[in-house]
This record gives sequence, structure tokens and C-alpha cells, in this order.
Amino acid sequence: MKAEIVTVGTEILLGDIVNTNSNYLAKELASSGTEVYYQISIGDNENRLLQVLDDSLKRSDIVITTGGLGPTDDDITKEVACKYFNQELILHEPSLNKIKSHFEKLNIELTENNKKQAYFPKNSIILENKNGTAPGAILKKDGKIIIVLPGPPREMIPMFENYVKPYLQNTTDSILESKVLRLFGIGESLLEDKIIDIIKEQSNPTIAPYVGDMDVTLRITAKAKDKKEANNLISEVEDKIRERVGEFIYAKGDTSIEEVVAKLLVEKNMTISTSESCTGGLVSASLINYPGISSVFMEGCVTYSNEAKINRLGVKKETLDTYGAVSEQTAREMAEGIAKNFNTNIGLSTTGIAGPEGGSNDKPVGLVYIGIYINGKTIVNKFVFNGNRQQIRMRATKALLNELRIELLKL
Ligand code: ATP
Repeated sequence: MKAEIVTVGTEILLGDIVNTNSNYLAKELASSGTEVYYQISIGDNENRLLQVLDDSLKRSDIVITTGGLGPTDDDITKEVACKYFNQELILHEPSLNKIKSHFEKLNIELTENNKKQAYFPKNSIILENKNGTAPGAILKKDGKIIIVLPGPPREMIPMFENYVKPYLQNTTDSILESKVLRLFGIGESLLEDKIIDIIKEQSNPTIAPYVGDMDVTLRITAKAKDKKEANNLISEVEDKIRERVGEFIYAKGDTSIEEVVAKLLVEKNMTISTSESCTGGLVSASLINYPGISSVFMEGCVTYSNEAKINRLGVKKETLDTYGAVSEQTAREMAEGIAKNFNTNIGLSTTGIAGPEGGSNDKPVGLVYIGIYINGKTIVNKFVFNGNRQQIRMRATKALLNELRIELLKL
């Protein structure tokens, strides 16, 4: 079954409000197995709305609108939908009584135009609004459906959950199921290159890559008669993808590299301390986001100056003089020093040039060394990140966490 989302309201067109209704409905419809190929935003204009309904219902079975159900003259969605279906609006007494009692409770006088919210076509399904005055409605004609919902998300979302979702479930015979694979350390183009044939030959499930800041996600979506069948279809494709790029997959579902690493640390009971220069605490803050990290996270130091590196971590002055603060040698001594001083299984370090100033030919802005001391061995990796100061610091943090993840998986 195909549906289209039509959000009505001039505020959306002008960019005055963010169109969260479309976002919410698109997600909900996708997970309930309803295909959405078009989302349209339109102002409160009768002719254009009639045109949109006509276009949409030629392509799709259902149109879901939000907005324009209020009492004022420019709230026209329901009236236009009725006009399109050539259905007459008649008074629905129970809705009028609800509106009346709502106004009585608030001690506000009911005006004539408020009553327009209680008018619906004869055979429509009226959707109660428990959080406002404008009821929604499901209108039907010749196998086509228009569902009109209020604009405010706090009214629209419960109405969708309570009435529209069950209604759609009864009218569809298939479901859509999605699984997300998260990859780190491989760019979108290389990933696509490695699995392009799998992507192209698939129509069910479909595979969609999305690029994050440092990671890439692959959403595998299957359409089937039930969850079990959909999951089987997904598993077949997932196995093929894992064969090609399994080493880059760090997680499934709704999670992050920080969470995955923090969980591994706790599971493996590996104590950890951090010494950060250019990341200035982002590494420890990322790990500490995870509740339960207290059993393994011992201490985090922001050792920004050379003095701090010498005094708190035991980095040798001659190392700093000979190789500089941003060097493999300094990163190594920082990671080893923090682990030794705080007696932890793991010591992490970051040292780099976050910019915008301070770069040179030898050591450009974006150069970062990350160090990992783990159970007696030290690994230092060199990266050159693109981006502004914040991006470089964030990317260094994530790269370090990913390297740590790889080391933890070896234990
Ligand atoms: P009301 O009965 O409150 O007048 P309505 O159904 O007529 O509701 P609108 O007047 O179109 O809805 O919008 C009311 C408010 O709902 C907007 O000011 C905005 O805050 C919110 N809203 C409307 N459409 C959207 C949307 N697509 N996404 C997010 N919020 C929205």
C-alpha cells in the first residue's frame, strides 16, 4: 500500500517551524509496511491543496495530512478534502459536545468558528483528539483514503498511535522490517564499491547506505508477510555483506562507537585512564556517557601543556625537545605514563594540531597521534583529519575509540 504525507501550513513553507510531523510519519509508515514515495509541504491554499490531493491520490492509495484543522478561516484541510471527495460536511454532535466542555473547563466562550471543528462527512471515521479541540478524520471514496490529522505534534502523534496505526495495520497485508549495520574505518565510496553488486541485485531487501561524521550505516529493509520472514530475508543479505566488509562492522542497531567500546571495557573488566591533549577531555567524556563505566574508568587528564605532560605523565623533556609535543614518541610516553601512574590495564593518549593556527609543512593542521597502552604493549597511530577545530577533535576521539575497540576484540 502506498501513502503520501502532505503537511499543510504556511509556517512550514517559510521555514518558521521544522517539519517534524513529516519526519515522524515517514518513520512510522516505513515501519508499518506502508510505502512512502512522496512527501509534500503546502501552504493553506485551497486550489493548490486540491491539486496536491489529486496528484497524490492518482499515484497512491492514501494521503495523510497534518495541519489546518483549527477553527480559523485559513484552516481548510478538512473542508478541501471533503470538497475533493465531493462529500458534504454534517454536524457530529459528540464532537461538538467535547469541544463545548473543553471550552467550559477553560472558562472560555465558545465562538461560532470553533463549531466548524465538529463537522465531518457522513461516513467518515472521526478520530478523537485527547490533547486539543480539533478531531482528525479518515475519509474514504472509491478505494482512496484521506486521513486528516492536526498540526501540533502533541495532538497528532497520540492520534496517529491510537487510531491511525491500528487502522493501517488492518488494511495492509505486509510489514517492513529494517536492520542497521554500523561501519567504521571505511568511506562511503569504498564501501559502495565493495558491495555495489549486492546493492544492485537486491529489490527485497533493499540496502541503503548513509554517511555519518566518521562512520557509515547500511540500512537493510525487507518487505514480507511477517517479521520472521522479513528477518530471514535480511539475514541472507547481511551474511553476504559481512563476507565482504565484516571487519569494518562495529555494531548493529541504534548505538555508537562510544557505547560499543565502553561496553567492551566493562565486559572485559579492563581498567582505563586517559591523557588527552588536543581532544581536551572528549575521549573521557565519551566513555563516561556510558552508565556503568565507573567500574573500569579510573582517571582522565587533560595534559595540554608540555609541563603537564612532564609532571603528570612522566613524558621526558628530551622527547618533547627532540620530537615535539605532537609526535609518535610523545603519544607513546603519554599513554604509557598515564597507565603507569594510575595503575590501569589501558592508557590512552591524544596529541595533535587541531588548528586553525599552528600547522606547518611537516606537521599540518589535522595531524593527530593517538596512543593506546594495553596490557604491556603500546600502539601509536598517526592520522591527518580534515575539518575545523571541533571536527578534528571529534574525529580524533572517534578514531581512538575505534582503534581501542579493535584491540579489545583481540583479547
Ligand atoms: P490548531 O487546532 O492548533 O490550529 P491545526 O491542525 O490547524 O491546529 P496548524 O494551525 O497548521 O494546525 O499548526 C498548529 C501548530 O502545530 C503550528 O504552529 C506548529 O507549531 C505545529 N505544526 C504544524 N504543522 C507541523 C509540522 N508539519 N511539523 C511540526 N509541527 C507542526
